[in-house]
Amino acid sequence: MSDEKTDAIVIRCVDFSETSSIVTFFTKDFGKVTALAKGARRKKGPFESALDLLATCRIVFLHKSGDVLDLLTEAKLQHRLRASEVDISRLYASYYVAELLQSLTDEFDPHPELFGTTHEFLRLNENPKVDYEPLILRYELMLLRETGHLPSLYKCAGCGKTVASAPRTAFGLLAGGIICDSCRHGQRRIVSIREEVLLILRYFADPEGDAWRTDDRYRDREKEIRPIMNQYFVELMGKRPKLHGYIPILGKS
Ligand SMILES: [Zn+2]
Repeated sequence: MSDEKTDAIVIRCVDFSETSSIVTFFTKDFGKVTALAKGARRKKGPFESALDLLATCRIVFLHKSGDVLDLLTEAKLQHRLRASEVDISRLYASYYVAELLQSLTDEFDPHPELFGTTHEFLRLNENPKVDYEPLILRYELMLLRETGHLPSLYKCAGCGKTVASAPRTAFGLLAGGIICDSCRHGQRRIVSIREEVLLILRYFADPEGDAWRTDDRYRDREKEIRPIMNQYFVELMGKRPKLHGYIPILGKS
């Protein structure tokens, strides 16, 4: 049993009893952590609004050994989600981030950079001056990169050889990225993507790049990019993410 402190984002909260909740956090130092929050459902509970969905907070929890649930002992609110005050689609975009973290990260598998990226997403998504559609694509690609699921965008996902640029390239949803002509035969779930689409995916997936802030070509290609990304997540998660149905640009494809 040990007392752990870390910065955390609330990604799930379910009722456990009349007075308690089970809260899942995406934490900076431990990755996903699920803990019992005793008294969280009481009106004047010990955690107040720190456990609202997607709140950023500083938490202390008791890490128990074996199958026993960790126990939350402190949660101090640092930032509350404000996307809902801006636009309902932005609120759903933030919920989508929580859904992806819940599905694609593991307990006690830390990704401090992804924590920073998530925090940044939530803050930028509150800003009406920032377009949230390219922001979602940027976040998806950063999350895929951090969790080891980024599709191969330069080399063939089959043989590892660099794929020569062409007006259209085969993209394997199951193979996990672009595929060269020799590896294409017999592959299932292939889509053909235009060179401009591939370039946008590369720019947006570049951790150092800021093309997602400025690249107008995203808008022109959005209708082609979204189905590929949506299907990629469906294959990865084994089901359609729930929030795809709530966000206009994700729901259309
Ligand atoms: Zn190949």
